Amino acid sequence: MSEAALPENCDVLVVGAGPAGSACAQMLARGGLRTVLVDQHDFPRDKTCGDGLIPDAHAALRRLGVYDEVMAAAQPAQHVACIGPRGGRVDVPGSVAVLPRKVLDHILVRAAQRAGAALHTPWRFDAPLLEGDRVVGARLKSAGQVQEVRAPWVVLATGAPPQAMIASELCQRRTPTGIALRGYVHNPAMVGRIRALEIVWHKRLKHGYGWIFPCPGGMFNIGVGLADCFSLAGTQRLRMQDVNLREVFDVFCEVYEPARELIRSGTLQGDLKGAPLRCSLDGADYSRPGMLATGEAIGSTYDFSGEGIGKAMQTGMLAAAALIKGHEQKLGDGAVREAYEASIRELQPRFELYRKASRVNAHPWLADLVIWRARNSPRILRRMSGVLEETSNPGNLVSAKGIAKLFLPIR
Ligand SMILES: Cc1cc2nc3c(=O)[nH]c(=O)nc-3n(C[C@H](O)[C@H](O)[C@H](O)COP(=O)(O)OP(=O)(O)OC[C@H]3O[C@@H](n4cnc5c(N)ncnc54)[C@H](O)[C@@H]3O)c2cc1C
Repeated sequence: MSEAALPENCDVLVVGAGPAGSACAQMLARGGLRTVLVDQHDFPRDKTCGDGLIPDAHAALRRLGVYDEVMAAAQPAQHVACIGPRGGRVDVPGSVAVLPRKVLDHILVRAAQRAGAALHTPWRFDAPLLEGDRVVGARLKSAGQVQEVRAPWVVLATGAPPQAMIASELCQRRTPTGIALRGYVHNPAMVGRIRALEIVWHKRLKHGYGWIFPCPGGMFNIGVGLADCFSLAGTQRLRMQDVNLREVFDVFCEVYEPARELIRSGTLQGDLKGAPLRCSLDGADYSRPGMLATGEAIGSTYDFSGEGIGKAMQTGMLAAAALIKGHEQKLGDGAVREAYEASIRELQPRFELYRKASRVNAHPWLADLVIWRARNSPRILRRMSGVLEETSNPGNLVSAKGIAKLFLPIR
């Protein structure tokens, strides 16, 4: 809970202190803008997630100056393991790590505060303040109190739940792209056995996947995701509230022996928790006069793998860069919005690659094929590692030929 009173005005009000909002607020404060960061929860707070940090997250953490602090607390790993329906496995090399979000997000929010952003919690964004069509601040609520904060710019970094985006008329699609469920299991005996971030496809998990990610201290994050809301048989499209993810989780433990063993011999910590995902930079407007939306609110999570922490931070920093440029060069609304939206559009080829790769979730047998090919071709393995490390040019890969090379037998 913040002690200081919520200010009545500032240069930028950032709503949501997840990776996108904290990264944005830190950069804005570093750029000399009076920045207020609000969240509906007090920190540290939990966030339902797989907790996996892939290379784009590592790069963003370095830019935010918290890489060493994060890695001192995280469980490092050297591979993402892709495991196919027939049990074939390929370990894709990459700099990856796992850190529960309760710790990661607290590090990020503290870094924003150190840079000069003022954090105020628990304050929930209720609606934008408008002058004509332009956003000029926000109405916030907390424990029966209502307060208005006026700001030339508001950044919405409220994640996958759509309410704030709907209230701001930026939401194009209320339904999420997918949903996922995770739990923490304490099982020190499995530490030597599961060292990579394991992602598992199986025909009984059609339209989805399971994962086991090793956390620090003998803890594991285990979960399942459905890239689209389909029934387990994969035949019927469902509303999100009708999907029984617990059932999908049980199937995962049935078909994947290490998952079964992890649960059997370990101790589940707390409840299994589910949450929505918004992917592929899809389903939302990125801005309107006086307001930018960023992070998972605009779908900055990768389809296929459900990873989004890195891109949330990256898009948050892009929002800050556009606002700082606008402030320094006294740009109008249109120029600031165009600078931001152009920088988001530059990321689209990479999202398109992951969107196309998500056909593996719909046709799990493709995973067998890719794994078999990667095991037999150092070139394909290097290509997969290049995608993970973001050293390959996604432009080449998203072409029909590139996809065919990666995912289909070469004719
Ligand atoms: C089960 C699951 C597993 C996942 N696994 C991974 C993984 O292993 N690796 C990975 O990279 N990504 C993973 N993701 C995706 C990742 O969680 C998101 O991409 C990431 O959290 C997006 O960050 P964000 O800052 O945009 O939003 P969030 O992290 O959701 O943060 C949004 C913040 O806004 C606040 N907020 C929301 N509404 C309001 C409001 N009205 N007023 C005030 N505050 C508000 C929330 O309290 C929250 O703190 C997973 C997601 C799920 C659901």
